[in-house]
Amino acid sequence: MRNIIIAIDGHSSCGKSTLARDLAAALGFGYVDSGAMYRAVTLFFLDHAVNLADEDAVVNALDDILIEFKHADGANRTFLNGQDVEEDIRSMRVSELVSPVAAVPAVRRALVSQQKALGRKGGIVMDGRDIGTVVFPDAELKIFLTAEPDERVRRRQLELREKGVDLSADIVRENLLERDRIDSTRADSPLRKADDAIVIDNTQLTRQEQLELVQGLARAKMTTG
Ligand code: C5P
Repeated sequence: MRNIIIAIDGHSSCGKSTLARDLAAALGFGYVDSGAMYRAVTLFFLDHAVNLADEDAVVNALDDILIEFKHADGANRTFLNGQDVEEDIRSMRVSELVSPVAAVPAVRRALVSQQKALGRKGGIVMDGRDIGTVVFPDAELKIFLTAEPDERVRRRQLELREKGVDLSADIVRENLLERDRIDSTRADSPLRKADDAIVIDNTQLTRQEQLELVQGLARAKMTTG
């Protein structure tokens, strides 16, 4: 069995992280949530009032940021400079600024190089927006996940509610669509399907069904070539 790289890209809240996590657990692979890295940078920029238009300030701030992932009780938690920020990075104030932050080329350069390093040995599932196009253009398996907007809003609302955050469908929808718009139209590595990615619409699929589908594709890649 080969230790392949699996790239999962797609729009906001269509279940990329759930699939990536499930798949990594099923295959015994590592999992990297690249969106959490952009979120951690955004949290740092907010807390330190870093001006996005000031390139020197952005580059200096990036030098002061260390992002790590740690596993605790079967969950993946994001640490920023040694502090557990898993909850903070999912807050609305971070969600509202993360796409403008992720459009800054210096931010992308720094994070893409860390992501490439994390995948050097293979045996990894990474989800994001540019994983199959920029971070791992040679990934053995690329999935482009999609789901209908109403379903994405419903899932995101549910996820937030589980964290005690109750937001109207309109507010959630607005944030999702605005992030998609910025992510798809930015000049530096916009969200787009890689030519060799397999498109999966999971609107009608259960979590288990989507896992089985992609696991089958992964195992086929692991046993060939
Ligand atoms: O995956 P998640 O929705 O948490 O990502 C948050 C934001 O981070 C996205 O809306 C996008 O702006 C940015 N992102 C990115 N490239 C990635 C992963 C996330 O630009 N590879």
